[in-house]
Amino acid sequence: MNFTLNILGTASALPTVNRYPSAHVLDVRGRLFLIDCGEGTQMQIRRCRLPLAKIDTVFITHLHGDHVFGIFGLLSTMSLLGRTAPLDIYAPGDFGIVLQHFMSSFGGGFTFTPVHHAVSAKTCVKIAESRNTDIFAFPLRHRVETYGYMFREKTPQRNVRKEAVGRFGLSLAEIATLKRGEDAVRDGGIVIPAGEFTYQPYQPRSYAYCSDTAPFPELADWVRGVDLLYHETTFPEGMADIASRTGHSTTVQAAQCALDAGVGQLVIGHYSSRFKDVSVYLDEVRRIFPSSVLAQEGMRIDVPLVKFN
Ligand SMILES: [Zn+2]
Ligand SMILES: [Zn+2]
Repeated sequence: MNFTLNILGTASALPTVNRYPSAHVLDVRGRLFLIDCGEGTQMQIRRCRLPLAKIDTVFITHLHGDHVFGIFGLLSTMSLLGRTAPLDIYAPGDFGIVLQHFMSSFGGGFTFTPVHHAVSAKTCVKIAESRNTDIFAFPLRHRVETYGYMFREKTPQRNVRKEAVGRFGLSLAEIATLKRGEDAVRDGGIVIPAGEFTYQPYQPRSYAYCSDTAPFPELADWVRGVDLLYHETTFPEGMADIASRTGHSTTVQAAQCALDAGVGQLVIGHYSSRFKDVSVYLDEVRRIFPSSVLAQEGMRIDVPLVKFN
């Protein structure tokens, strides 16, 4: 029942010796979602001991190289390993032509099909789901068409309280009704209320990924209350001018978004290559949002399961 974020890259566009460009893997109960795929992502997947074969969906935020150049090597490796299952890739519409060119030049002997789903969203909309997770996309403000992604565990079926089963001698059909959160009604008008005799077994967990973007007010509404928020902080507070010119955020702007959205924890990254030591970023975000951490290559962040009974 794990819900774990693996951070593979924390750099912005210019290459640096110690950092990789953007890529995260969210592991929801063994199902791996790859979010952004900067250069070297496949090496980082190996280094973090994540099973390549278990990645079945990729989410690309935008077509800047530091978020997408790693996809080509990754696709080739998946084919070399004999993958047969299709790979779903959610990305802006223009990715379709890029993938087409890549496949016509290099995809001849591919053992599987990468399937592009063109993302288009003017507000926060659901774009996909798996057995346990709903996935949403929302537009970001950057120099090209860019989307953020949010992953929310589905609300679990309710559990029926043990005492109710014995007390009412519940049938299987009545148990199924109560688990859906509906009252069970018997002949003669006897009502067994779901609200009283069932409970939600655990709190669904959530993660939102916001990179790259200038700040804007709707963003906090869209990611409201997530347990874990990744928000880019390309620049420290003193560089707000260049952040605004390039469609990026500063530490203070990211922390303000986390505060406005009431999230559980903030993780920041996409650091400018000007900074070898990024401790200044952490000091600045924590002044506004204390529950913040610096993303680092190879870092794992678990969102614990909160159970009810
Ligand atoms: Zn970037
Ligand atoms: Zn960008």
